[in-house]
Amino acid sequence: MSPVIEPGATIGVLGSGQLGRMFAIAARRMGYRVHTFSPDDDTPTGQVADREFQAPYEDLDAVRRFAAGVQVITFEFENIPLETVEAAAALAPVRPGGQVLYTTQNRLREKQFLSEAGFPVVPFAPVASLGELTAALERLGTPAVLKTAGWGYDGKGQVKIDSPTQAAAAWQTVDTPQAVLEGFIDFACEVSVVAARGLDGQMVDYGAIENAHARHILDVSVSPASVAPDVARRAVEIAHRVLERLDVVGVLCVEFFVRRDGQLLINELAPRPHNSGHLTFDACVTSQFEQQLRAICGLPLGATDLLRPAAMANLLGDLWADGEPNWAAACRFPHVKLHLYGKQSARPGRKMGHLTALANSPQEAVEMVRAARTALLSGR
Ligand code: AMP
Repeated sequence: MSPVIEPGATIGVLGSGQLGRMFAIAARRMGYRVHTFSPDDDTPTGQVADREFQAPYEDLDAVRRFAAGVQVITFEFENIPLETVEAAAALAPVRPGGQVLYTTQNRLREKQFLSEAGFPVVPFAPVASLGELTAALERLGTPAVLKTAGWGYDGKGQVKIDSPTQAAAAWQTVDTPQAVLEGFIDFACEVSVVAARGLDGQMVDYGAIENAHARHILDVSVSPASVAPDVARRAVEIAHRVLERLDVVGVLCVEFFVRRDGQLLINELAPRPHNSGHLTFDACVTSQFEQQLRAICGLPLGATDLLRPAAMANLLGDLWADGEPNWAAACRFPHVKLHLYGKQSARPGRKMGHLTALANSPQEAVEMVRAARTALLSGR
């Protein structure tokens, strides 16, 4: 039997957010069918999928019904219970495999894996009590950042500690049985590498993408990053080694802090397409979503060439505070592309969409995408 899952086949997506939506768009474009599974309905993924299964992840009978109707399963959200993945994997291959999810869905396990494998990580200590936090603060010093080990993203479940006197309050704030204390890194910039690995081990990447965060949430990404070529090369090398070491089939993003001396430290891994790679949808020969599709279907991976320098700006729910944004004003920028995820309610901090700008230089792309975003608030 050919290991290739051909167009016409049905792909299952666990999770139903914007990453699944963009994956489904890429998959449908290539003639695949898409089923999505999550506890919600009328979801960003469900709106463009052929079929939307709505059930709790813990409903393993529903998971099996979903898995029985697809040829391969991937996920767009890593906080899926392992039992769900195992139940699904008994009926269809899950790519990347459950071991990738197991390692990356818990900050502590991820950091232990990375440091034991010799990858450069932010100095960290496991913390399971106020006593352990006090001891860890003595060892790592302040400032430091206390983060929950599980279920954290976009700065949720983390608190900065500027002095040991704040330990008790911080421990109360994270309110979790298992946390990780990290040294606070005074970085020059943040970069990420989105890379894909095929069923046969072939690997491709999108080089270093530079990321700016606001309130711990990704704000603007730009490609190529403004780091020295040697820094970008090392980031890519590390990312490839992480994919190999974790035996990833699919897409994985490695987020780095770049220190002022050029040293790279891994902040975290995401075993799926990443927000910083959204610009690949408009700016690269093959998007990160098509790459995920090709990898999990056993197809050869596509070229990752960046057609033009590009920047992406997230559109958070805050933009809706005074009513619907002025979409026409952003569309007046002819080199800016608008992506909206079809979410019904715009809460502050919620990712509702993004803009991508293509330009002659990375700086120009950043200026353009910021100007287009500002224009959304004009003349309403
Ligand atoms: P995270 O959700 O852990 O990726 O954190 C979101 C953002 O918070 C990062 O991209 C950084 O901008 C900032 N941050 C998180 N951890 C640290 C740290 N140890 N040192 C400095 N900044 C951090």
